[in-house]
Amino acid sequence: MRYIFISGGVVSSLGKGLTAASVGALLEVWGLRVALKKFDPYLNVDPGTMSPFQHGEVYVLPDGSETDLDLGHYERFTNAKLAKECSVSSGKIYEAILRREREGGYLGETVQVIPHVTDEIKRRIEVREGDADVAIIELGGTVGDIEGMPYLEAMRQFILDRGRENVLYCHVVLLPYLRVAEEIKTKPAQQSVALLRGMGIQPDLLFCRTEKPFGPEIRAKVGHFCNVRPEGVIQERDVDSIYRVPAMLHEEGVDRFILNHFGIGGSRCDLSPWEKIVERLERPGRKLRIAFVGKYVHLQDAYKSVYEALTHGALAQDRKLEIVRMDPDAILGKNFDEIFNGCGGILVPGGFGNRGIDGKLAAIRFGRERRIPFLGICLGMQLAAVEFARNVAGLAGAHSAEFDSECPHPIIALMGEQRTITAKGGTMRLGAYECNVLEGTKLWQAYGQFRVQERHRHRYEFNGAYRNALEEKGLVFSGRNPTGLVEAVELADHPWFVGVQFHPEFQSKPLQPHPLFRDFVCAARNFLEA
Ligand code: GLN
Repeated sequence: MRYIFISGGVVSSLGKGLTAASVGALLEVWGLRVALKKFDPYLNVDPGTMSPFQHGEVYVLPDGSETDLDLGHYERFTNAKLAKECSVSSGKIYEAILRREREGGYLGETVQVIPHVTDEIKRRIEVREGDADVAIIELGGTVGDIEGMPYLEAMRQFILDRGRENVLYCHVVLLPYLRVAEEIKTKPAQQSVALLRGMGIQPDLLFCRTEKPFGPEIRAKVGHFCNVRPEGVIQERDVDSIYRVPAMLHEEGVDRFILNHFGIGGSRCDLSPWEKIVERLERPGRKLRIAFVGKYVHLQDAYKSVYEALTHGALAQDRKLEIVRMDPDAILGKNFDEIFNGCGGILVPGGFGNRGIDGKLAAIRFGRERRIPFLGICLGMQLAAVEFARNVAGLAGAHSAEFDSECPHPIIALMGEQRTITAKGGTMRLGAYECNVLEGTKLWQAYGQFRVQERHRHRYEFNGAYRNALEEKGLVFSGRNPTGLVEAVELADHPWFVGVQFHPEFQSKPLQPHPLFRDFVCAARNFLEA
């Protein structure tokens, strides 16, 4: 097994996750199998309990683990099969060590960061021989953070244990451009690499994030001061689409460098999928506006996978996607004909908590009445059912018990075991569940299949007691769990109105858009261009 470590320096948000995912994509281009893991130095056991302000989107894997959003990039860019051991936090490491200590696993010993924490990290870095050819290990945070130290120490030891020829160390840095000096500066990068070298780690590859292209002088200078070969200094420019990154890094010679380092040959390099994406991005398509009504629309990362899945759908339609982000509180009381003007579709994503509910309900009603294509995800589906109950079925005061536990018609409620659960971490309905698809519905047209698996992350469900009442009024229950739980609702007499209890965005890829996103974007296009 060969290992690639990726850390970051100078500032956060350099796109380490994207770099890791792109490196994985480039190795797959050569026919290699990759495994990817992310190590986060924070003390939460997983990001499941963190707010989008703190952490961006919580990404969910088929096994139900709640993980860092970088794992979304891994899945979108590669074919790696991810599971809970691919997302590690200091919280997880300490939880395991402290449990072992209480069970007497360290009797007589003093339990310490070195060697106990570092050994636990090294154990979790390991990928089983046979599962992949190359393992890519990303370290969250920024080199220099106190919390990250045990990881760097573990990585240093790991390199010594395995031999330099079996481990490649990458560091992602920023080369800022100073407008007043009209110069690209290398000093912060030098200092970040000096920190790494102070901990006994010499990077082999430096990914230099830069807003302006730089020439051979800067390359030579960075290489010289950071003790990296010039061909190991990689220019990673800002690009308008993340899907350009693999092809760009290929041009920079990243994959060649890695293969040389490991001494593994490769003859069949097939970059065509990534070239195809670049080609599609270049095709000038008409604009396609989709309204996105969510509580956290002002944050970059809160709905990452949903934005990406919409992008995949638009790529397939040769359209330039423009997501019109709307804060549900801000649209209440406004003229909807004006604010939704030019939008081909309305999307209401998942969410928790009371804020913004009324604005979302109003947007859903507008989409239903004006026959604008609508996609509701998780909370978006639950609110679509509530809106239908109130305004079509005439059930006054209908709501979700999450927001009004005393309401006369709890259309959405806690079902089954969720009624008894009080602990917060990892206790929702999480991960992949089966969904049976009803023939002849929009859902069925999208999937072309009777049985699908989709990922979940929610506590509340459609309340089965209201099924008949709503069905009579025209709500179609197009997806059901084998246990009977409602997975999807839609309207028969509407061009495209679908709400799903699950999160289809977690299974969308740039060249294989998720069928629901593909059809939603297609319906939006038809709505605008009819
Ligand atoms: N808050 C809702 C629930 O817990 C919806 C969750 C979501 O949208 N992810 O059921």
